Amino acid sequence: MRYEVLSRDDALSGELAERFHRLAGKRGLVRSETEPDVVVSIGGDGTMLQAFHKFRPALDRVAFVGIHTGRLGFFADWQADELERLVAFMAEHRRDESRIVRYPLVRVDIHRAAGEPVRYDALNEVTIRRREGTLVAEVHLNGLLFETFRGDGFCVSSPIGSTAYNKSLGGAIIHPTLESIQITEMASINNRVYRTIGSPIILPKHHACDILPRPGQPLTVTVDHLHFEWDDVVRLHCRVSDKTVSFMRYRPFPFWQRVREGFIRNEGDE
Ligand code: NAP
Repeated sequence: MRYEVLSRDDALSGELAERFHRLAGKRGLVRSETEPDVVVSIGGDGTMLQAFHKFRPALDRVAFVGIHTGRLGFFADWQADELERLVAFMAEHRRDESRIVRYPLVRVDIHRAAGEPVRYDALNEVTIRRREGTLVAEVHLNGLLFETFRGDGFCVSSPIGSTAYNKSLGGAIIHPTLESIQITEMASINNRVYRTIGSPIILPKHHACDILPRPGQPLTVTVDHLHFEWDDVVRLHCRVSDKTVSFMRYRPFPFWQRVREGFIRNEGDE
């Protein structure tokens, strides 16, 4: 089996990456920087986002696994002191289909005033904000006007991204196997002219959301950790992607336990 490692730029993550290569070589795993079957991310959730976007063109053949070197990561099942165990699991089970979980992504087509639309699949979310002042935008659901928004912006998240920016905005935590996207407002102004639903809304796979900013606004669009500054965005077309992200689950780690570990459990609790 071919693997690649992406590590965060800190001493511990770098050292673990070196150890990983040594152990993996002894177990017959082959490093491939360009065509890995499994990509190991060593660091935090931000490191996994970078690994995901590096291998985004190869999502149909690459599976990810994460080792965290800080506090528990949502995308990282393994701790630094479990490196040897992980390599042993990888050597034994390789890319065993029964140990792969696949999660939905957010797809966005970004239409600008000129040129072809640009397409991204996001692991966590897509956001749109105005750089100065408040964003004014129409929201259309399945091609029909839903609301006219004025406020800071929008976050459109995947289920696995629902614990990230979406959660800070008061969005719901969605189980990552539910094929859906969640649209969360950032600080909407509600008055007689601008009236929005106010609550996060969750769309199923066959629905689509269009965000149409009023022309001439300086905008920041983000796709996970990627930032773009554009002043000519005409429309963001968001829906559940037809691609998924694959994670190797060499051992079970139930999602709600992950949520508890990430947000509820104190150091020293059972
Ligand atoms: P960053 O500002 O360095 O890190 C943002 C934080 O979000 C980190 O603590 C990261 O964990 C955590 N995170 C990322 N994905 C997560 C997930 N699926 N569930 C729970 N926590 C998650 O930015 P970055 O490393 O480039 O990551 C970009 C992400 O930051 C975006 O996708 C967005 O979700 C998040 N963000 C959050 C807010 C907010 O909550 N107010 C604002 C902007 C962006 P690690 O420390 O393990 O890397």
